[in-house]
Amino acid sequence: MSAYRPLDTRYDSMLYKRSGRSGLKLPAISLGLWHNFGGVDTLENARAMIRRAFDLGITHFDLANNYGPPPGSAETTFGQILAGDLAAHRDELIISTKAGYYMWPGPYGEWGSRKYLVASLDQSLRRMGLEYVDIFYHHRPDPDTPLEETMGALDAIVRSGKALYAGISSYSPEQTREAAQILRRLGTPCVIHQPSYSMFNRWIENGLLGAVEDEGMGCIVFSPLAQGLLTDKYLADIPADSRASKPHGFLKADQITAEKRATVRALNELAGQRGQTLAQLALAWVLRHPQVTSALIGASRVEQIEDAVGALERLELSAGELDSIEQILKG
Ligand code: NDP
Repeated sequence: MSAYRPLDTRYDSMLYKRSGRSGLKLPAISLGLWHNFGGVDTLENARAMIRRAFDLGITHFDLANNYGPPPGSAETTFGQILAGDLAAHRDELIISTKAGYYMWPGPYGEWGSRKYLVASLDQSLRRMGLEYVDIFYHHRPDPDTPLEETMGALDAIVRSGKALYAGISSYSPEQTREAAQILRRLGTPCVIHQPSYSMFNRWIENGLLGAVEDEGMGCIVFSPLAQGLLTDKYLADIPADSRASKPHGFLKADQITAEKRATVRALNELAGQRGQTLAQLALAWVLRHPQVTSALIGASRVEQIEDAVGALERLELSAGELDSIEQILKG
């Protein structure tokens, strides 16, 4: 691939939203590197997606220590692309990583101890060739480590300069409030929460959106397309190159039931009536909450990123459309 020069138009049409009551603005569409950026994937495709995303105003790239496969390889890939294409644009980027899931053997390779979080971030920085990340998350709640220790580690990491902001992922409303209070007391605000959210997974509507609003946190929702289910991809069958047909894909073929397909078909029709793709409707739907700062998508090809950004052309949803969606989801 030839030398990369980002488009001068890259900031012309993206919507940037403030993360809670912080000064940090995120693009309404962010790109995650969970699938399709690992050692098993093609570097040139990964590079093409990052380049196109940046050209479209996507300034935020989300990683974690364990993304791959193999674990760690998405960070290595991203580091390579960054060094080759985007090094001169580091200050235009918000790069996040996380620690929480299994990464290395022994008692210090997962969960939420200070030992694990600090060591894991150091590894992530080495893999990406970075001096700091913009956001460092605790990836999942740890039932055994005191929250004071985990939040204390996030505070220490921010003070060390290895991360600019602290975040949490998949914390319940109660855990979120408690984490926010501890961090506030320590003097490092919790800037963002990263929960799952889509038409097929609505848990954040039961208390979490209220908690993030009260605490002044932003909210970046992952898997807004339900890993591809909320697109036209699986309407007829399971395409050979889809996530559901890959051995390491997190979406399993048996999750695509006849009932799900019927729901998706009805949603797809509604999207068509709005002049949108289903992916675009699904993204507009998660972004309808003022608390949702960004929809964190995944992609396996450039066109999917273009499709997602196209959602921003028609975000508004009428009461009638929202009601139709509720009826369809009820089945
Ligand atoms: P999505 O729900 O956006 O699913 C993305 C997948 O859907 C793509 O890889 C692609 O799959 C398919 N797809 C996307 N756009 C289209 C389209 N226009 N038409 C057809 N198919 C499409 O999100 P992910 O599940 O990938 O998660 C996004 C990010 O969220 C991750 O990369 C990660 O950064 C973060 N995340 C965080 C977690 C956490 O615990 N904090 C957990 C999980 C994810 P295909 O390969 O089939 O083409």
